[in-house]
Amino acid sequence: MDKPTSFAPVLIVGSGPAGSFAACELLRHGVTPRIVERRPAPHHETRGTALQPAVLEILDRAGLIEPFLRAGVPIKHIQLLGPGLREIGHADLAGIGCKYEFQCSLPQWRTETILREHLQGLGLEIEFGTEVTSIEDDAAGLHVTLTRDGQTEVVSAAYVLGAGGGHSVTRHSMQEHLDGETYGGRYIVADVKLGLPAPPECGRVIVGQSGFGLFSPLPDDRWLIFVNRDEGDERTELPTAGDVGRLLNARTGVDVELNDLRWTSYFKMHKRTVRTLSDGRRFLLGDAAHLSSPLGGEGINSAFMDAADIAWKLALVVKGAAKPSLLDSYAIERGHADHQVLNASDQIHTLVMDLVAMCEGGATPTLPATDPAQNLIVARRRSMLDVSYAGSPLVGQAGMPGDGPLSGQRFPSCHRLSGTGHHLLVFGDRPRLDRLHARWGQHVSIVDASAARFDAAEAGLPKGGALLVRPDGFIGFHSASTDPATIDALDAHLATYLVPGIERR
Ligand SMILES: Cc1cc2nc3c(=O)[nH]c(=O)nc-3n(C[C@H](O)[C@H](O)[C@H](O)COP(=O)(O)OP(=O)(O)OC[C@H]3O[C@@H](n4cnc5c(N)ncnc54)[C@H](O)[C@@H]3O)c2cc1C
Repeated sequence: MDKPTSFAPVLIVGSGPAGSFAACELLRHGVTPRIVERRPAPHHETRGTALQPAVLEILDRAGLIEPFLRAGVPIKHIQLLGPGLREIGHADLAGIGCKYEFQCSLPQWRTETILREHLQGLGLEIEFGTEVTSIEDDAAGLHVTLTRDGQTEVVSAAYVLGAGGGHSVTRHSMQEHLDGETYGGRYIVADVKLGLPAPPECGRVIVGQSGFGLFSPLPDDRWLIFVNRDEGDERTELPTAGDVGRLLNARTGVDVELNDLRWTSYFKMHKRTVRTLSDGRRFLLGDAAHLSSPLGGEGINSAFMDAADIAWKLALVVKGAAKPSLLDSYAIERGHADHQVLNASDQIHTLVMDLVAMCEGGATPTLPATDPAQNLIVARRRSMLDVSYAGSPLVGQAGMPGDGPLSGQRFPSCHRLSGTGHHLLVFGDRPRLDRLHARWGQHVSIVDASAARFDAAEAGLPKGGALLVRPDGFIGFHSASTDPATIDALDAHLATYLVPGIERR
């Protein structure tokens, strides 16, 4: 093993959405990482486009929402159509309980540009043309070999964020595999214009006897489309606009009037994940850790969520403000959430394929009847607002849970809390918190929730209580009481992962 010639507290492999956003969040939390990218320059691929409401909330907290809203278009409805463009079902994002009740859709290259420009504004350059070729660990730390212009450099890194996508050198170095299944069929994705009229702000899936077409709005009156290839078609040269248009017309039974193809690719769909996301010093993020069916529209979103979760924890540990064991919660929390996401995407994938099978059999495709309450649950799941970290060691409570959000769930008004620290919202009578403040005041801002007009009913604390909101907007501790025993329990909970008395930045 060559001797390292430089040191990085955190080295990020890959500048896709996961790696770039992790870098943004680490900087916001006061740690400067190194981020390397093997591509010689930024790409121009459309790929993952729809950012879900839960991710828009994360971008809001990160101070990045404005450029995304300026660059993207909103998607507020999803329509499912059958032969003859007959509506089979539709989903609305109105009423899901989030500041952003829409998806924000923009090409992935644009997302990466926004993140890159943000990093540049903060003085961090992505090192393009720099490939991580190996990661070895010994007692002294991780030795990461970088190759650039035929030259090698060995970096000693305290922590590595493996955000290298589906073919991840970090994952290989951990002897991890993407276990699971590859769905049947081969597909085309393309960025095109269409003549077919469509309702505004609406994504569509159209099923027919020979397959389906997915149509997702993009800025500049463009569309991201998916369509299944003909069985047995194994051509490797990319399809032309004429090929894609013919396939879409055949699948949907209408002339979609496709033109101006800007980008296209073949792809397969997977449902795969690793056994564990971390070995304590290496952390897998995004596609390096999991692959879900793009029909669920969650791949790029999970990448953002992984990055948000690891960044605040790693920053606290690197700054000496938290115990290294805090990092164990990444694999527990995101591993569980990633399984939820895989299952949600799988349900949508299976639904679309079942509807196609109904059409093939000559039946009229239909959906089972649902009521508004069920529709809301589904819309919240699709929006990724129901991700929960319940069961994590980082989540506690005292007493019985109330009717509101539980420990481990997202705090619905988290967009009203700014900064990088924890917040303790105290509802009702203000208890004595001098000791708590003395020990944890540099980590935890104590908020008189009633004076700040937080809704006690929404918090599930109509008769008073305390709610600890973590830096990522999730509830870390919940209690309907603020008696001395509860405050002691909260103190003990914080002491499981934070180091008292370290100045918050
Ligand atoms: C054809 C296609 C269509 C898709 N459509 C959708 C969609 O409609 N909706 C959706 O949500 N998702 C979609 N996805 C998935 C989405 O693009 C990914 O989920 C998302 O890109 C994951 O981000 P990431 O940062 O984890 O990985 P990536 O975006 O793959 O980024 C990884 C980066 O790491 C770099 N890298 C890799 N290895 C190294 C190394 N050794 N050293 C240095 N750099 C390295 C790569 O060059 C790359 O830039 C699609 C993907 C593809 C391929």
